[in-house]
Amino acid sequence: ATDRVFNFSAGPAVLPESVLREVQEEFLCLPGAGASLLEISHRDKLFVEILHNAENTLRSLLGISDDYSVMFMQGGATLQFSAIAANLLRGTDKTAQYLLTGSWGKKAIKEAKKEGKVVTAYDSADTNYDRLPTAADYTCPDDAAYLYYCSNETIQGVQFGSEPECPASVPLVSDASSDFLCRPLPVDKYGLLYACAQKNAGPAGVSVVVMRKDLLDIADPNIPGYLHYKNHHDNDSEWNTPPTFAIYVLGKVARWLQNDIGGLAKMEELNREKSQSLYKIIDESNGFYKGHAQTDCRSLMNVTFNLPSEEMTAKFVSEAGSHRLAALKGHRSVGGIRASIYNAMPREGVQALGDFMTDFASRNS
Ligand code: PMP
Repeated sequence: ATDRVFNFSAGPAVLPESVLREVQEEFLCLPGAGASLLEISHRDKLFVEILHNAENTLRSLLGISDDYSVMFMQGGATLQFSAIAANLLRGTDKTAQYLLTGSWGKKAIKEAKKEGKVVTAYDSADTNYDRLPTAADYTCPDDAAYLYYCSNETIQGVQFGSEPECPASVPLVSDASSDFLCRPLPVDKYGLLYACAQKNAGPAGVSVVVMRKDLLDIADPNIPGYLHYKNHHDNDSEWNTPPTFAIYVLGKVARWLQNDIGGLAKMEELNREKSQSLYKIIDESNGFYKGHAQTDCRSLMNVTFNLPSEEMTAKFVSEAGSHRLAALKGHRSVGGIRASIYNAMPREGVQALGDFMTDFASRNS
């Protein structure tokens, strides 16, 4: 027996229990190492093998071809806001085009502006970031440095169902931090996609960057060394000491996805089933629960909704807590409720939340 709750945290977030147990078993002494993984060199061949296995499992899950580099970096998704613009925009006359659909896109724009010309090609601020653009809602010039979007805005709970329209000559860049590995992706459509690990892919401390190799040479070599993707690529993510423990856990999560879940198509099916069960309760609550996102762009990962009042929201969070349903409070910037139901959230957790929501609505409406 453990005290583990159903944890709806937006990140760092729930991890597969089987992965946590494996980590626990190997923690004191990594098989073959005579020491904990935390205690061995990143140059140790056992760790190098762990790193390569993690990369290869990601390549196989997502079907990433040799045209792409897969890099493990530190600095969170936030460092990527700067790195992308430093590599692909700084020193050019081009514009970087941003589709602004929520809080994380806004932060990315702020950093990119320090590096060059940034155009906000679409902005859904007027409707409080509850929707996504169609191709008719923005234009992107053929000579843009890149077109940037966030595939899943974690705070608002809006998720693109497929890649936004982008001219073939322009690299498409995606912040996939909160929906990485939730479904198959046509990686070939991207110039670069990245994700911090602490939602679907592992613990905090590592970010995965998948980048088309021909873009590695664009950057001015005088940008700060850590930001320069080529350094990470050329040195197999060991340009400096990588976050060894986070990469190790990420590798295990990726193998769990492949072996226990059966791949990303299967994962998507489960994620659809889980999220739809909650959206159905919202839709059938006669307005007691109001979903934040427009129905056509509801996130599979972060289910965001409001209750009739702030008092009711507080009561919901508190009562949910006594039902072992944790971390449901919406982000401090938007309020309401956010149920983050990442890959590792078991069906039973979603079921328990759904039952609680139905019961809470019937007692309070
Ligand atoms: N982008 C998205 C979509 C996120 O959800 C987050 C983290 N919540 C970030 C960026 C920032 O990530 P980090 O804290 O790792 O910098």
